[in-house]
Amino acid sequence: LDERLSIRGTGDELDLLAETINSLLDRIAAYINVKRDFLANAAHELRTPLAAIRSSVEVALNAERSSAEYEDLMVDVIEECGALETLVNQLLLLSETEAELPAAKFERVDLNDLVMKGVDMFSGVAEARGVKLRAGRVDDAAVTGHRVHLRQVLNNLLDNAVKYTPSGGEVTVEVIVDEPFVRLKVIDTGAGMTAEEQQHIFQRFFRAESARTRSPGVGGTGLGLSICQSVVHNHGGEIHCKSFIDRGTTFTVTLPLAEEPSGLDKLFEANG
Ligand code: ADP
Repeated sequence: LDERLSIRGTGDELDLLAETINSLLDRIAAYINVKRDFLANAAHELRTPLAAIRSSVEVALNAERSSAEYEDLMVDVIEECGALETLVNQLLLLSETEAELPAAKFERVDLNDLVMKGVDMFSGVAEARGVKLRAGRVDDAAVTGHRVHLRQVLNNLLDNAVKYTPSGGEVTVEVIVDEPFVRLKVIDTGAGMTAEEQQHIFQRFFRAESARTRSPGVGGTGLGLSICQSVVHNHGGEIHCKSFIDRGTTFTVTLPLAEEPSGLDKLFEANG
């Protein structure tokens, strides 16, 4: 892939063809590099919990231990298995969302419903962390999309917002119609990020330094936002982040509104 065509002075069209092929080769080479880095990162991230599991098991086996000590070690093993599971699930989801989506999987997805279920799902975790989670302005809105993937987007954003907001803070979800688009916002009053960090958060495996220092003990894979971005792009939308250190973060997902169902569609819907 290091080879490039050089046809010079043999005619405009051949030059153009050579240029096109060369730029295609550049893009293929760049793509292969991205995939290579991804594989190296994935292997590295998988190795960390595996090494921890091996070490706990070795410690458990290399001397006589009390049952309390065994229990502690096994709890560590289970925790690391959980981290492995999350990572593998996210890797699978990422490859699924990056594959071409069959339009047949797209259906009408009500955003109010999605938001209410999301808020419900995270209310327990938020409460346990002393974070107030609520739905703010929620306009009536629907999009055409992959229900499970869209739920994943909201869940990842809520998970982050709750994770990176210290006790006493607030997380608000909003749905705002701005024809012909709808904006889904997840607003938190948490740790925030620097401008430099915000430029990298959608890269796979990226985890900001401010998150590590301001939210110690909070684990993550650095894949959640890459998944969000890939899903949102599959739906013809955009995802943006605005954040200030110690003041909080707002993620905005902009999606095209679903076309209004015709009278006939409504009739079919009403009759199941
Ligand atoms: P992770 O599994 O680490 O949360 P993500 O891809 O979801 O991975 O996010 C990437 C990084 O972006 C996080 O590690 C964190 O540094 C930063 N981040 C994401 N959401 C927020 C937020 N709401 N507040 C502060 N930092 C955030």
